[in-house]
Amino acid sequence: MGNTKINYYVDERGYYGEFGGAYIPEMLYPNVEELRQNYLNIINDPDFQKEFKELLTDYVGRETPLFFAKRLSDRYGANVYLKREDLNHTGAHKVNNTIGQILLAERLGKKRIIAETGAGQHGVATATVCALRGLECVVYMGEIDIKRQAPNVARMKMLGATVKPATSGSKTLKDATNEAMRDWINNPVDTHYIIGSVVGPHPYPDMVARFQSVISAEVKSQLKAKIGTELPDYVLACVGGGSNAMGAFYHFLNDESVKLIAAEAAGHGVDSGKSAATTILGKEGVLHGSRSLLMQTEDGQVVEPHSISAGLDYPGIGPQHAHLFKTGRGTYVAVTDDEAMQAGKLLAQLEGIIPAIESSHALAYLEKMNFKGGENVVVCLSGRGDKDLQTYMDYFGF
Ligand SMILES: *Cc1c(COP(=O)(O)O)cnc(C)c1O
Repeated sequence: MGNTKINYYVDERGYYGEFGGAYIPEMLYPNVEELRQNYLNIINDPDFQKEFKELLTDYVGRETPLFFAKRLSDRYGANVYLKREDLNHTGAHKVNNTIGQILLAERLGKKRIIAETGAGQHGVATATVCALRGLECVVYMGEIDIKRQAPNVARMKMLGATVKPATSGSKTLKDATNEAMRDWINNPVDTHYIIGSVVGPHPYPDMVARFQSVISAEVKSQLKAKIGTELPDYVLACVGGGSNAMGAFYHFLNDESVKLIAAEAAGHGVDSGKSAATTILGKEGVLHGSRSLLMQTEDGQVVEPHSISAGLDYPGIGPQHAHLFKTGRGTYVAVTDDEAMQAGKLLAQLEGIIPAIESSHALAYLEKMNFKGGENVVVCLSGRGDKDLQTYMDYFGF
């Protein structure tokens, strides 16, 4: 690495090393450019920060606890701390981002919000903030996902959102994304598109990471208060697109003593053909407007991913993660469906916390870490498992 320090954050051109950028149709350029020119000024404005923090406190319920998991720690011989994003209003970290983006949309004078959703979690988080602020909300969702995720569709409708089915292609997330893009092109003046992870064209990955970075900011001050240092030995998180992981890593990127571990979904196994292990299987390419790593065939067709957790079922990762992987700053590991399900049950029965199956992927990697003893480990518990109870029950035959 020589003596030139690697930049792990976005550069002025919207890149992280060779990854990132804004690969968009010309028709979308004015929308993305408006956002690019304004997002930093808006986010850094003290009035914005004040309102953002107030809503995170009074509406979302932050700060979320950093919980010392004693029985889990005894099992692994390390000090395991859980960052309880599952205790946020709506049950996961996603609302940190949608709160930030709705405040930004208001300051851009937008009256209408669109979003895409796969499992429905981001759709619910978006419908929630639209209701809170009185903005029209249209959520695009693949026709097949609408059938698979009926409870989240009901939540969105209860919150006043319109759920529009994407009926083309595989009728899943990527088709919903295409529909949302088309809508945005047709409604550039009054509409803001809320993307739900650290993916998409610049400035989305940076913007979403900044909103989610509240996670690592809180972890630092909470660790300082608990153990006298703000630096743990490890931070562990699951990666779909990568927003909860980036939020958990963000303020540690330049603290090189802190090892950052990201757990991807290996599904039935990395070589099974039914997986979402992007860094292991992926190649460089362009997906949803940025250059990153993605799962694709020889001739560049996106491969349908598989994971038992709907939230990790994504064929790419955000460009900042691709950069952390490429530079070695982050370690990317693969966790199978089976390993995740066992880890979910273990947490439920050792600590009385039922995690989202996504979060169980991060927990599962604790089994493989072979601690020397006494290391401090922070695991980002990205969401609660209520939405996954049926899947847990079917799996364990309860
Ligand atoms: C959506 C979701 C994820 C995956 O998204 P990231 O952008 O990778 O964080 C992980 N955990 C939960 C609970 C989710 O709802």
